[in-house]
Amino acid sequence: MLVDAFQRRITYLRLSVTDRCDLRCTYCMPEAMTFLPRREVLTLEELHRLSLAFIARGVTKLRITGGEPLVRRDVIDLVRALGREIGTGLDELTLTTNGTQLAQHADALTAAGVRRINVSLDTIDRDRFRALTGRDRLPQVLEGIAAAREAGLAVKLNVVALKDVNAAEIPDLIAWAHGHDHDVTLIEVMPLGEIAEDRSDQFLSLAKVRADLDKRWTLVPSAHRTGGPARYLDIAETGGRLGLITPLTGNFCDGCNRIRVTTTGQLYPCLGGGEMVDLRAALRSGDPDRALSGAMDRAMAIKPHRHGFAIERGAAPAQPRHMSVTGG
Ligand code: SAM
Ligand code: SF4
Repeated sequence: MLVDAFQRRITYLRLSVTDRCDLRCTYCMPEAMTFLPRREVLTLEELHRLSLAFIARGVTKLRITGGEPLVRRDVIDLVRALGREIGTGLDELTLTTNGTQLAQHADALTAAGVRRINVSLDTIDRDRFRALTGRDRLPQVLEGIAAAREAGLAVKLNVVALKDVNAAEIPDLIAWAHGHDHDVTLIEVMPLGEIAEDRSDQFLSLAKVRADLDKRWTLVPSAHRTGGPARYLDIAETGGRLGLITPLTGNFCDGCNRIRVTTTGQLYPCLGGGEMVDLRAALRSGDPDRALSGAMDRAMAIKPHRHGFAIERGAAPAQPRHMSVTGG
């Protein structure tokens, strides 16, 4: 089993299959983002092998992410291969996507054994979407969400709360999502990687959002958990569930069960830390299974107790790595 120095059991792997993306969300990456050279990226076979090694060490939940996972060619082959592990060690295989290519892949995801996905959608206003992501793709995303539901996938929407951008729209977005039977989780923006703007102009505390929502709706704290960092509220009037992920205003590191692997095989035991173990070298060694297992043990020894995120005007990001590199 994977247990870190603070006796936290690690059961949840977020695997980045690409750092590339077809959108440019302003809080995530700059328009002129530099991507990794393709030769450095692990093959799908290597990502598969690596995932099996984690499952053998007690990982029960695996999320495929990126970058935008659905822009990686043949990624569905990996999803299919990992889907075969569900029920024999793996409890859940899931995916986080921006939804632009979801319509083409929804049926294949269901057939592979995926049951729930997260779709990131920060606005349902077409002009705002174009301004926020740099691309006019809201219609494709909405089509993708509809296709996912049609294919039998439960869809949870991830919404990054952004001052002056979507703050005023958040209640309408929640009402829309709950009206379509999608759960929603709000996320505070995190200081990861350089972007064109200052994140202090974007940051919106979820304590403030919650106080505003409280004036409109009856919010009932819920005991619901999905194995991630979100804490949940039920909204009596919409009949839906609202998750809150508060890396800045409500640290949740004590209960952390997660690790992340980048598309080049770097294992980051903490999203907000620089600690890293190189799995690519282990994978390409003479005895990969043994080397991978040893690398995982090293990662457990160096997993920090908590991140130290802070957002201050003019300050450098907590980590130079963008979330799209580490895997969201
Ligand atoms: N491209 C996919 C997507 O957008 O769903 C998957 C990768 S994306 C990095 C995963 C999640 O991270 C998304 O919900 C996105 O909104 C969020 N994200 C990206 N950069 C972030 C940041 N600096 N702070 C908080 N959330 C961020
Ligand atoms: Fe791409 Fe996701 Fe980052 Fe947006 S949040 S730029 S969709 S990786």
